[in-house]
Amino acid sequence: MPTSPVSRLVGAIAPSATLAVDAKAKAMKAAGEPVIGFGAGEPDFPTPDHIVEAAAAACRVPANHRYSPTPGLPVLREAIAAKTMRDSGLVVTPEQVLVTNGGKHAVYNTFLTLIDPGDEVLLPAPYWTTYPEPIRLAQGVPVVLPTDESTGFRITVEALEAARTPRTKALVFVSPSNPTGAVYPEDEVRAIGEWAAEHGIWVITDEIYEHLTYGDHRFTSMPVVVPEVAERCVVLNGVAKTYAMTGWRVGWMIAPPVVIKAATNLQSHQTSNVANVCQHAALAAVAGDLTDVVRMREAFARRGTRMHAMLNAIDGVTCIEPQGAFYAFPNLSAYLGRDIGGSIAQNTNELAAIILEQAKVAIVPGEAFDAPGYARLSFALGDDDLGEGLTRVGDLFATAR
Ligand code: PMP
Repeated sequence: MPTSPVSRLVGAIAPSATLAVDAKAKAMKAAGEPVIGFGAGEPDFPTPDHIVEAAAAACRVPANHRYSPTPGLPVLREAIAAKTMRDSGLVVTPEQVLVTNGGKHAVYNTFLTLIDPGDEVLLPAPYWTTYPEPIRLAQGVPVVLPTDESTGFRITVEALEAARTPRTKALVFVSPSNPTGAVYPEDEVRAIGEWAAEHGIWVITDEIYEHLTYGDHRFTSMPVVVPEVAERCVVLNGVAKTYAMTGWRVGWMIAPPVVIKAATNLQSHQTSNVANVCQHAALAAVAGDLTDVVRMREAFARRGTRMHAMLNAIDGVTCIEPQGAFYAFPNLSAYLGRDIGGSIAQNTNELAAIILEQAKVAIVPGEAFDAPGYARLSFALGDDDLGEGLTRVGDLFATAR
């Protein structure tokens, strides 16, 4: 047996299931198949014009053709600090902001900067598929804490306390949540924040969906309602979801200066500065008003309501109301072990493959989020595709025996 040339650490990394589903759906589409993709968490809108114009103008400025400071253009770090105050109420200095190549890069920087071998990171499930990988790369231990529909997929202080050990270093907190669409009410955010502060546990709070909440649900920033959390807190954010800018790759982390300094050192050997043109696009986004965000949120709200109704109308499928982000997270376990067009799925991985094969609809199986039996469907796609795709799934399930 030839030994693998790949290191054990990197060899153990699973491919991103959400990107894999999206890539397969896009490839099938390119080959002429009428695939509808609910896979990627990606708004279907183009990036607003004024942002694109700012980037185009930045292309013509020679300074933007050169290296710039690793932690971000000073003007962008300032604008992110101002935007954070405007949107969540958290007061931070520009020195507390590190601009990264997308939110994902901020996630990597954060874990590599905070985690020592053996440190435990509490990770409520279902969780976004990326979190465990950088924790393991840092030789930390993701401690998965399951939640289910009965608690609206929200973790409780009791469950956190039961998992706490002397090695507990950090908690990953995501609201609005990818993949469940859950939004924690303020009193629960406060209770969890107070628990973390009391025990000296770092909180990594991913606020990338802060503007996408529906109905009466509202985003709450943990270090704002529990100021004692701020000294041990990393806020993750980016322009991808709010401004339909997934391809521009600009995110950021906000943390105490000592953490930002260390993470900047890491990034200085890794990627250096984020592309200047993209930073100028992000600057136009965060320094501008929220008119485009409100317009897109209205579309997402309409689509979420429709998806929720269409999923619950399928016999045996249950789905909690999406409160934020742009995902529905239905329980599809009623369709496991049944004959669907001659195929039987034993798990939601297999069920997703059957749906893709037979209905030409791409969904992400719950296994990707440590929640077998469920699936994630993004409602960031166009209204017509959304209706057609869910009709196809309903029609396919109607044939199950
Ligand atoms: N955090 C969460 C919760 C996300 O869902 C995503 C995108 N799927 C990100 C961070 C990262 O986004 P990006 O790297 O595109 O900025």
